[in-house]
Amino acid sequence: MRIVVGGILQESNSFSPKKTTVQDFRNYFYITGEELTEAAFENEVKGFCDQLRLNQAEIVPTLFCMAVSSGPLSATAFNELKADLDIRLQAARDGGGVDGVLFAFHGAMVAEGCDDTEGELIALIRRHIGEQTPLVITLDPHANMTARIAGKVNGLVGYKTFPHIDFYETGLQAAGLLLSIVNKESEPVIAMRKVPMIVPAENGQFHSGPLGALWEEARRGEQRGESLITSLFPVQPWLDIEEYGSAVVVVGSDRERAQREADRLAGLLWEKRYEFGVELLTVDEAMELALRCQGSGKPVVISDSADSPGAGSTGDSNFVLRRALELGMEHKLSGMLSMVDAPAVDTAIRAGVGSSVTLSVGYSQSSQGTPIEVFGKVRTIGDGEFVMVGAHAKNTVGRMGRCVVLQIGGLSVLLQERAIFTGDPAMYRSVGLEPATADFVMVKSANQFRAQYERLSNKIFILDTPGSSSANLFDMPFKRIARPMYPFDDHFDWQQLSL
Ligand SMILES: [Zn+2]
Repeated sequence: MRIVVGGILQESNSFSPKKTTVQDFRNYFYITGEELTEAAFENEVKGFCDQLRLNQAEIVPTLFCMAVSSGPLSATAFNELKADLDIRLQAARDGGGVDGVLFAFHGAMVAEGCDDTEGELIALIRRHIGEQTPLVITLDPHANMTARIAGKVNGLVGYKTFPHIDFYETGLQAAGLLLSIVNKESEPVIAMRKVPMIVPAENGQFHSGPLGALWEEARRGEQRGESLITSLFPVQPWLDIEEYGSAVVVVGSDRERAQREADRLAGLLWEKRYEFGVELLTVDEAMELALRCQGSGKPVVISDSADSPGAGSTGDSNFVLRRALELGMEHKLSGMLSMVDAPAVDTAIRAGVGSSVTLSVGYSQSSQGTPIEVFGKVRTIGDGEFVMVGAHAKNTVGRMGRCVVLQIGGLSVLLQERAIFTGDPAMYRSVGLEPATADFVMVKSANQFRAQYERLSNKIFILDTPGSSSANLFDMPFKRIARPMYPFDDHFDWQQLSL
């Protein structure tokens, strides 16, 4: 039995000014052939491979690549990825046929001229394997589900955690489902229900709050046999595309029953729409709280989630540092902050460790603000590579390019050449900073950072700051999404609108 395996993942942000290129994938990871089947990081593709090996299936690798979240892919980048996948699928067919396909997607990847890249990649896979060969995919729950995706796969599984920690288990489950279809032990149907609502990710964790309760309901449905596998998709809120919205997808054994279950959970999600509001603090309020918690032995963790590279922002905002310096916090608190600024990194490295420098920092890529001039000491210079523990694909090597720690009084500012997921304490540790010992630590992440930071923090606050991934959805310049859509509209008959 020959099973084709692969994955293409990126989470796009329509409001980010930076287009995603193929090099952005290569900077994170882009692996093929044996490198794919032997990869050590714990993600869904390793889950696919382990399950297939356990069942003596032959693994036929294509490509597996991922890029840090950013703006939509350029048309060239998307065409290049499609062309590479095309060649590898052809080789898989020529090498002895294909009995099934397992593919990992994010589900919120957008390209210039293509809102539904996953739908298009699935169509490409279908062109090679026909309509009869089973295809099962995995998705991030922040995916934007489309009728095209649901209509062209034999099964799909979303992560069941947010912060996401179950990549590997998701892969195992998807591979188990595919094998059962290939072996003719099951013939699942897919029922989807879209819900015209978007909610901020900051209050969207799955283990508590409004979505925690919804997941419990989903599990109950599975236990009653309404569904084989239920996936919830509270879509990420920074896509300005058509056919947008949250969704519930049920993989079941009976069409009517599965649809009823999808409709039931979709109704419950809609009813919870008011429960996702996020309390945002100003930088002044957050600094005040950090002062009050000083000496507690644990840091206050503050998130500038509006500038989250994990959500596609450029990560180059200096908004928090600027205000902290205006308040004189470098004389009162020990704090850690990070910022993408390649030219500043270069100037600091040329000055060398131990030298005092005046640097212009911030907004080196986006034009959403202006740089500030700061004076500090170059404390550390690094190559920017570190092993991630709390990000997507455990054990992935994070690459922030060359980096520098600039010490401004008590504030350690980590300047990076490239945007990277900042919610993993391994990032600061890689340059000799220990988050657990600071008065405050700033991350740029909506929710994923909680996976590692919750246990070492005293308190966690989301900041009210400007940026492409703001929790304040009314600030975002949506133009193309269908209306009505909650939270911009309310009190409409949503069931009339959804598929
Ligand atoms: Zn996600």
